[in-house]
Amino acid sequence: MNDLEEFIKNVKFSKHCKFCEGIDDSIEDPKHHPSYEITKKCNLNCIFCYSRVAERSKTVPEPGYYGEMNPKVITISQYGEPFASGEKEVARIIDELRKIFGEVRIDIQTNGTYDLKILDGRADIVMISISAGKREKYAEICGVDAFPKVLENLKKVSGFAYTIVRTVYLPGINDSELVDIAKIAAEVDELFIQPVSVYRENLPSLNRLDFDRAESIYDFIKSAFSVSEIANIRLPGCFLKNLKAFLENYDFQELKFVKRNVFGDYPAIRRKRLFVL
Ligand code: SF4
Repeated sequence: MNDLEEFIKNVKFSKHCKFCEGIDDSIEDPKHHPSYEITKKCNLNCIFCYSRVAERSKTVPEPGYYGEMNPKVITISQYGEPFASGEKEVARIIDELRKIFGEVRIDIQTNGTYDLKILDGRADIVMISISAGKREKYAEICGVDAFPKVLENLKKVSGFAYTIVRTVYLPGINDSELVDIAKIAAEVDELFIQPVSVYRENLPSLNRLDFDRAESIYDFIKSAFSVSEIANIRLPGCFLKNLKAFLENYDFQELKFVKRNVFGDYPAIRRKRLFVL
């Protein structure tokens, strides 16, 4: 077994993926965790953003709780930047969700540009999106010069919650940043690397993406492996489940020829809205 095979055998899925239907073999059409959508707004303008595409295609969900009444995990939120609606509003929503659902795990996805201290004692997992390792590249990818602020917030959050650096792998754009990203993530609990999904509306901003490499599962794994000595690398649970199923049936070398479809459908939430707080 070579080093890369060994890595695939041992690498874990993100803690965020625990209890997601995406890692459950018995579910035919898995859905993402239940979520509470707070706002469609965002203060950044990331080149790969699906939320912006969803807003233009009118598939972005209205604020509210999407899921069932016995969730193990609630994600806040899948679309927009929750803190764009204000810290007090995020605190209020989490407190209300706790009143209804008690000890449910609360995972929050944020770009980390706002003060996050209200999450202390409220969120179980904080995922901060960082897809660049240097200030200039961050501004290029996210459209705003907020890198120092994000690093400052990341440090603070890691003092009180399980903290994940969430990176979208963009070969040709941020692959040269991976080592720096991993060094940043080495200070927190995990580096969750996700392959990019491309939406046609984002093609102009992704013109430097190396599509051949973005399609290659082998390239993605190799890149994740290349920084595995630096940070605690975690991969998407649904991706890992499919990868392991493939390797049960095919020779490892065949992985070099497998391509993923990088183009995503219009992102749409697949759960019903049950209530608004
Ligand atoms: S990455 Fe996949 S397994 Fe993980 S939470 Fe998202 S849909 Fe679920």
